[in-house]
Amino acid sequence: MSVKQVAILGSTGSIGVNTLDVIRAHPERFKVVALTAAKQIDRLAEQCIEFRPNIAVVADADGAAKLNRLLQEKKIVTQVLYGPQALVSAVTESGCDTVMAAIVGAAGLVPALAAAQAGKRVLLANKEALVMSGNLFMQAMKVGGGELLPIDSEHNAIFQCLPDRFTKNPSVHLGVEELWLTASGGPFRDKSIGDLAGITPEQACAHPNWVMGRKISVDSATMMNKGLEVIEAFWLFGLPLEKIKVLIHPQSVVHSMVRYRDGSVLAQMGQPDMRTPIAYGLAWPERIDAGVAPLNLTQLTGLSFTEPNFTQFPCLSLAFAAAKAGGTAPSVLNAANEVAVAAFLDEGLAYLSIPNVVEHCLNALPPVAADSLETILEIDALARQAANQFIRSIQK
Ligand code: NAD
Ligand code: MG
Repeated sequence: MSVKQVAILGSTGSIGVNTLDVIRAHPERFKVVALTAAKQIDRLAEQCIEFRPNIAVVADADGAAKLNRLLQEKKIVTQVLYGPQALVSAVTESGCDTVMAAIVGAAGLVPALAAAQAGKRVLLANKEALVMSGNLFMQAMKVGGGELLPIDSEHNAIFQCLPDRFTKNPSVHLGVEELWLTASGGPFRDKSIGDLAGITPEQACAHPNWVMGRKISVDSATMMNKGLEVIEAFWLFGLPLEKIKVLIHPQSVVHSMVRYRDGSVLAQMGQPDMRTPIAYGLAWPERIDAGVAPLNLTQLTGLSFTEPNFTQFPCLSLAFAAAKAGGTAPSVLNAANEVAVAAFLDEGLAYLSIPNVVEHCLNALPPVAADSLETILEIDALARQAANQFIRSIQK
């Protein structure tokens, strides 16, 4: 068995730390060759001391100087780089064959694309990259000739429930009728929109079932996360949008399902623990111990499934509208949402203004073809500008 050489983009985040946890248990299978983080230098230093990567990347020169100091104290010879271009070097110059793309948001797009182009096994957690550049990204995977393994739990579940031939050639549908993405409904599942006026970041980040980074936690509360995941599924699996459905399933035991023409519905179940899809992606097509507790079905009080209420979750409607509009609309949706969520977390933007920011930007920037990285990055910048202006105007 050859040892997989793994680069982790976003190693200090929730997915990054869980990835290292799986890798730690299988030193005979995986070697870490690159780690990257934006600002958490102490945590990154600890990871470098434990895993000894060839390359470590941070956001800026100050961070790099601090990391170098911490590593020199321990005589660690990791090469320290900084800045957005260095994230690409972590993919292309570390000697990796496998890349965990776990940076949050649009910042992860360029290195994820680089991994696709370079023919790596791409473990894709960074859903925003695919939402922004689905067509380009899937093309780059094809040309690069690598393997794409979805890490988002829903998409990983669907990947597991599809026939092998389907995943190798998504245009052959082999009796697949529908994909059902499950959603917990987040912390405000049972609240009406009128109850949400004074919601604080702490309340929005307190997810009932999953422990995750702050941005995706807010996205789960607004259900923008599920909207992004519908777009993600559209690109990953190549089914028409009408065949991708969302079901509220508060227990988070069924991670998603595939309905077939013959009446079969295949579901993947498990604990709500990201180490399961991470281990699956790392070892595929083999299965390894993920450190996850076994699922005990007899201890469950019941499993329920309901249709989502689009009035209660306007972000979900906006995401479906952007998906239907196509072109650069999903990029605008994503950028506006990133700005709005950051403003909610750090600048006192009202929780209920998040969808207003997104809607404003979608109206202000009608979609054009998303046919080049330059166009996508330009639209991303314009949408951020429009979102910031709108937020300033409503906060006056
Ligand atoms: P997180 O906030 O915990 O971690 C984000 C990581 O990205 C950190 O290492 C951070 O240093 C790095 N980062 C942030 N901004 C950066 C920038 N500008 N440049 C370089 N690096 C930067 O986020 P997370 O919860 O681990 O989520 C990561 C991705 O995985 C997201 O796209 C999220 O939607 C997806 N995802 C997460 C989960 C989960 O359970 N956490 C589940 C499914 C999908
Ligand atoms: Mg998910």
